[in-house]
Amino acid sequence: MEFAIPEKVAIDLEQFKAFLKANLEPHLAGWYKQEVIPPEFIQKMGHDGWLGFRQENGRIVEQSALREAILFESLAKLSPGVAVAILVHISLGTAPLFLFGSDELKQRYLPSAIKGETLLCLGNTEHKAGSDVASISMQAERVEGGWVLNGTKAYVSNGAISDLALVTAVSHPEAPRNNRLSMFLVDLSSRGVARKKLNKQVWIPSDLTRLSFDNVFVHEENLVGEPGRGLQQVLATFTQSRIPISALTLGTAVGAFEMGLDRAKNREIFGQKIADFQAKSFEIADFYARIEAARLMVWKAAWTRDQGKDFRLEAAMAKYLTVEIARGVGLWAADLFGAASVMQDHPVHKYPMDAWASSLGEGTQDVQKLVIFREIMKK
Ligand SMILES: Cc1cc2nc3c(=O)[nH]c(=O)nc-3n(C[C@H](O)[C@H](O)[C@H](O)COP(=O)(O)OP(=O)(O)OC[C@H]3O[C@@H](n4cnc5c(N)ncnc54)[C@H](O)[C@@H]3O)c2cc1C
Repeated sequence: MEFAIPEKVAIDLEQFKAFLKANLEPHLAGWYKQEVIPPEFIQKMGHDGWLGFRQENGRIVEQSALREAILFESLAKLSPGVAVAILVHISLGTAPLFLFGSDELKQRYLPSAIKGETLLCLGNTEHKAGSDVASISMQAERVEGGWVLNGTKAYVSNGAISDLALVTAVSHPEAPRNNRLSMFLVDLSSRGVARKKLNKQVWIPSDLTRLSFDNVFVHEENLVGEPGRGLQQVLATFTQSRIPISALTLGTAVGAFEMGLDRAKNREIFGQKIADFQAKSFEIADFYARIEAARLMVWKAAWTRDQGKDFRLEAAMAKYLTVEIARGVGLWAADLFGAASVMQDHPVHKYPMDAWASSLGEGTQDVQKLVIFREIMKK
């Protein structure tokens, strides 16, 4: 059993931290104020090889899940909101295209996606269907040469900044429940697409956008994967994305912990530092231990995937445990800052809010427990 980070990943991590220091940290406060992530930043990430895939001898290959997890933790520690925008582009946009797209679609879009020049998002959730993915109602009607889409995707991260969206829709209404959906790649500049940026209070500065489709024509070749397999494809997309979102959530916990620890070491009340109260020192010890346990779970999930093994159980446990710890440590850290913590522009404010957001993406805590239980019962 080997717990050390592989040497190559350790080198990448140091380079990535230097990249973030130069290209993210000086701008973060401004991006939070404006609630935007400049596309140039994502392009710079792509050009420097930080967007999850790379070109190798003319082929596009996915980076290891462990490397991605380690990089996501360090990015989310600084900004879970920026991290989620990157995660969505890589794991909910580029990855399903890589996994299920035809050779033609991949050749057309992947080279620019991995450089961050073409941005992707995933539109699945509707007002009446979130966890229960099979119940979505967006319609895909067959017409000559393609499909016509009608409906609304209620909550789409990166919907405002993306060029393309992977969208699930009912293409086979008469088929059994599990074979009714297909996945489509939609150009968001198409006629009939409308975007409405929503006023959310989590994962700032990323956007959350409602995408409406009114008679949007999609060419036959933009059907992603197999007709009628949209449900399985979107669930597989969430399963693989549970590892990076667990790492992102771990980074949220670590960012909160470090800020809280710093406060506890420096803030004096009743004539002593907060950290000198034994009650607080026990909390610090408790959170540190539980963060480390959650990290080991994330790494195990990533390692399992990198071994080519079934990682559904590990990924769901990683998501479940990291959300639990991020929620606890986020509130703890905010508490240590007292009243100042409720100010929206206070740096600690984002951590409890973003831990809350993490509990929703790629399946709620209840959904993780459903997956964990199902996998236990298979054993
Ligand atoms: C910031 C943010 C970004 C998002 N980005 C995207 C995106 O990019 N693309 C996208 O498609 N969606 C996105 N979503 C939507 C997200 O995926 C859904 O919110 C999530 O899947 C839950 O669906 P829901 O909101 O409809 O809640 P529901 O599914 O209605 O769940 C409500 C409650 O019921 C519980 N529950 C559900 N099923 C069960 C069950 N079987 N047993 C027990 N309890 C259950 C849930 O745990 C929850 O507590 C985003 C959401 C947020 C908040």
